[in-house]
Amino acid sequence: MHSRRDFLRTMAVAGAGAMLPASGQQARPAGRIDVHHHMIPPGYVTAMQDELKRTNWTPRQWSPAISLETMDKNGIATSILSPVQRLVLDSMSETSERARMLARLNNDFGAQVVRDHPDRFGLFAALPLPDRDGSLREIEYAYDTLKADGIALWTSYRDKWPGDPAFDAVFAELNRRNAVVFFHPAAGSCCRDLMPGLGLSGIIEYDLDTARTAESLLYNGTPARYPNIRFIFSHSGGAITTLADRMIDDYPKDHLAQLPHGVEYEFRRFYYETAHAGKPAALDALKDLAPVSQILFGSDVPIRNYELTTNPLSQYRGFSVADWQAINRGNAERLFPRLKT
Ligand SMILES: [Zn+2]
Repeated sequence: MHSRRDFLRTMAVAGAGAMLPASGQQARPAGRIDVHHHMIPPGYVTAMQDELKRTNWTPRQWSPAISLETMDKNGIATSILSPVQRLVLDSMSETSERARMLARLNNDFGAQVVRDHPDRFGLFAALPLPDRDGSLREIEYAYDTLKADGIALWTSYRDKWPGDPAFDAVFAELNRRNAVVFFHPAAGSCCRDLMPGLGLSGIIEYDLDTARTAESLLYNGTPARYPNIRFIFSHSGGAITTLADRMIDDYPKDHLAQLPHGVEYEFRRFYYETAHAGKPAALDALKDLAPVSQILFGSDVPIRNYELTTNPLSQYRGFSVADWQAINRGNAERLFPRLKT
């Protein structure tokens, strides 16, 4: 007796399966592109020794070869590398030479990995924000010298979120560069260590901060003022999907002129990646908010393992074969044309 999976595979081969629901495992013929994949440069770990000890965090053994091995085992063709944690810590001043050095160290390392394996890796370059001038310089270096694929930002910088006017010059430049901006979750100064025993960021704070980032960008009109930037949000949008209706309905009317197409339009234009958020509660809500063209595969490897994302995705029945092809690869190829096969 053939399984449902065999039946669907046959239909897909016959070209008749495009509208049928399908599991995520089926539709990865050309290999997934993972947009949420951390690098842990050895030089960064050495430079951060004191901070790592203070925060009790032991980074795991990592090398590009380790990433390649797990990517091969999991059908991942290409991973876009991003830094492993915030570069500007609370102990640093706003324009810290150390933050500039750490961003450059990450970016030079990542760019070398991409040069060594141009088909297997891409680079989201780090910026030393909230240092505006240092960030503008790093954008120039990342694009003109390193040929980075995009920029990795955090969802917050101490007590500021990305829509803050203090960051406007940086987004203006990213708009001029047609940048892809990957927002990695962080916890703002307000909201760290709120519950004793749960660690600095607790369990849910990253997803709440992701929603705050969207709120901050929308409130300040950033997506409409800088429409060339493609923003990617992590973990299927975190709390964005649940809170989007409230952000749409309660958006301050006196700010509406900043978003001529409305709030909902911008939510439908953002991108969202799937890391550790592949169950129906997350994906059904995401499908309701944004078209499939805005959904990307992400894993959060090596901080988390692939199975946390790929197991639920493989059981999800809400996408067609064509949808899976777009999510696994096609949508990312649009963002990173050099990876087009
Ligand atoms: Zn991550």
